[in-house]
Amino acid sequence: MYTNEMLTCVDCGRQFPFTAGEQEFFAMKGFTNKPNRCSDCRAARKAGRSQGSGGGGGHREMFKATCSQCGGVAEVPFQPRGDKPVYCRDCFASRPSYR
Ligand SMILES: [Zn+2]
Ligand SMILES: [Zn+2]
Repeated sequence: MYTNEMLTCVDCGRQFPFTAGEQEFFAMKGFTNKPNRCSDCRAARKAGRSQGSGGGGGHREMFKATCSQCGGVAEVPFQPRGDKPVYCRDCFASRPSYR
C-alpha cells in the first residue's frame, strides 16, 4: 500500500503531497523518480510550453522541412513525417499535378 508523502517543489519551494494515488499511478507507469514540482508549477510549465519560444505572434505553428524538389526550406503547417514529399511554396505552385 502507498501512503501520502510530502515532497518539496523545485520551482516554488513549497511542500506538496505526492498522494498514494499518484504513487500508484507512477508505479503503474514504471516511473522510478518522484515528481519534482507541485501541481501548480506543473500546470504552469505545461501552459508555458505550448506558447512556443516566441517569435510567431498569433500565427499557427509552422514546421520547417526540406523541399523534396529543390532542397530549399519549406514551411508546412503540419509535422513532416518523412514518408511524404514536402514542397516549398514555389515548388508547390509549379508542381505538376499527378493523376
Ligand atoms: Zn511549485
Ligand atoms: Zn522547392
